Amino acid sequence: MSTMQNPPEKMMFQLSLRRRGISDQAVLRAMEEIPREMFVEAADRADAYRDSALGIACGQTISQPFVVAYMTEQLQLQKHHRVLEIGTGSGYQAAILSRLCGHVLSMERYRTLADVARGRLAKLGCDNVEVVLGDGFEVPAGAGNFDRIIVTAAMEQIPDALAQRLDRDGILIAPVGPLHGTQTLIRLVRTEAGLERKELVDVRFVPALPGIAREL
Ligand code: SAH
Repeated sequence: MSTMQNPPEKMMFQLSLRRRGISDQAVLRAMEEIPREMFVEAADRADAYRDSALGIACGQTISQPFVVAYMTEQLQLQKHHRVLEIGTGSGYQAAILSRLCGHVLSMERYRTLADVARGRLAKLGCDNVEVVLGDGFEVPAGAGNFDRIIVTAAMEQIPDALAQRLDRDGILIAPVGPLHGTQTLIRLVRTEAGLERKELVDVRFVPALPGIAREL
């Protein structure tokens, strides 16, 4: 993996994250340690450290690195946290999360994406990540509640059922808005008084769709 060792590229990658305001050292370290090139299509390896989203299988995308770092930072992860991710995609965000928390349950509606991501995460030794084929609109009750929830596909609104899965002091981050336009990242915090809502930045994600995908 030659690009992974390429210092100028990786230095620029770190620099651009810092320049755009990412300051959490643990987040920056995770972004440095996880080889993004492992999560992009073979044809895109040379572009793996550019700050842009890239296409992956099943018509989906791997998010822009800045957005991955930003959402991760906003989650204020601690080592004991149980995290739910909706939208495994390439598995990159899950790999970053795995370095910073106790356990990640990542749900994906495409079997192919779930299988490939699971393989990559195993290869990297991210053994605290469980990738499951499933619909993030229907998180099984048996999965319990979570300290943190990160949705990486656009939703028109945050389903109540999902917000209810947040533990006390829990944080949920999701892109909310028109499915095929620009969304706003929303942060919900479960406080004693109820759910606190804050608008963060504008983003563009592929839509969250209901049900397990019929195609692979
Ligand atoms: N976090 C990913 C990028 C996600 S792209 C990464 O780091 O690469 C959004 C993903 O959400 C797509 O793979 C899409 O198939 C998935 N998705 C969309 N709706 C979903 C749903 N209801 N449940 C689970 N996954 C869903």
